[in-house]
Amino acid sequence: MKQKSIFQAVFDAAPDAIVVVNNLGSIIMSNKQATELFGYKKDELTGKPVELLMPKQISKEHIRHRANYLHKPEVREMGARQDLLAQRKDGSEFSVEISLSPINIEGEVLVVASVRDVSEKKKINHQLKQSLAIVQSKNKELEQFAYIASHDLQEPLRTVKSFTELLSEDYTDKLDDTGKKFVSTITDATSRMSDLIKGLLDYSRIGTKREISLVDCNKVLADIKADLAATITEAEAKISVDSELPSVWSNPSELRMLFQNLLSNALKFHKAGIAPEINITAKRFDSFYQFAIQDNGIGIDDKHKDKIFIIFQRLHNRKEFQGTGIGLAHCRKIVEIHGGRIWCDSKIGEGSTFYFTLLNMPPNEYREA
Ligand code: ADP
Repeated sequence: MKQKSIFQAVFDAAPDAIVVVNNLGSIIMSNKQATELFGYKKDELTGKPVELLMPKQISKEHIRHRANYLHKPEVREMGARQDLLAQRKDGSEFSVEISLSPINIEGEVLVVASVRDVSEKKKINHQLKQSLAIVQSKNKELEQFAYIASHDLQEPLRTVKSFTELLSEDYTDKLDDTGKKFVSTITDATSRMSDLIKGLLDYSRIGTKREISLVDCNKVLADIKADLAATITEAEAKISVDSELPSVWSNPSELRMLFQNLLSNALKFHKAGIAPEINITAKRFDSFYQFAIQDNGIGIDDKHKDKIFIIFQRLHNRKEFQGTGIGLAHCRKIVEIHGGRIWCDSKIGEGSTFYFTLLNMPPNEYREA
């Protein structure tokens, strides 16, 4: 087979539309995809200015860009960041990405332009952005609702609490055993409700203070260990750290809350009669750190691994393990507003590992991420 026809076959088999343009801006060659994409016949393109393939309003500017490009021809991608439009023979416009590659044939610079129709991709991106904006605004609304509800509920609850206290202190001789039991049940319920409301209020507040600094995780861990010293000693727990932990760009109080919730859970959900053994590691990847908190506790069934991160979802009743079911929801929200994700790997009866990632970049880049 002649070299020329091999070349033509390869040229036509390319997945993208390709037009070759000379230094005067005239199309000298086009492949099958180009004629199909733009709706022209081959001979309708050959010899025509490349501006034929773009909307009129940008063709003038293109002539200028083209001249500049020929001064310094280089491989270039266009349209990935801004919206680049092309025009079909019937006048309809569509979004494209174009890669330009200069080639030198016997001293003449030709430009090979590969054109890809990305209108579908742009449409999907646009729809995704719109959906994301809706979800974000709905989340904001829910957070505001949670904040107002929990804030306003605190007041009547305080009243119930103080009157129950008055009842149990001042009316104790007037109450029989059943009455005392009722008062004690009300006291328990109000204190639990107060914990739930506080949890909800804390949840709605996460992310409202965005002061970010480089926080040393070793220091955070040392502080938490000091706070939990009594629980650690009582449970005879062993906490080890594989290597030095990194410093990460984060909000210090949120980072502390994150570690504290995960550690408290690892201490709390231990197997009866077996002391908790907890190991903490951090691995560095290109743009993020991945932390792992591993325990030898009761483990979590596969089917509950996502559910546990939802607010107020618990797998046990309060008699088995104390708690409000909000700790992991806090963790997820904290990790996500730091641009990371959290998940759990576990085997029932063998222990769990909670993984989370945190971006490893300074604040201005972080805000854009
Ligand atoms: P809480 O600890 O108040 O119950 P969380 O949101 O922290 O709430 O956890 C939700 C549920 O996930 C817990 O009730 C428990 O069933 C499960 N869980 C969390 N951490 C662990 C762990 N380390 N080992 C086993 N189960 C866990």
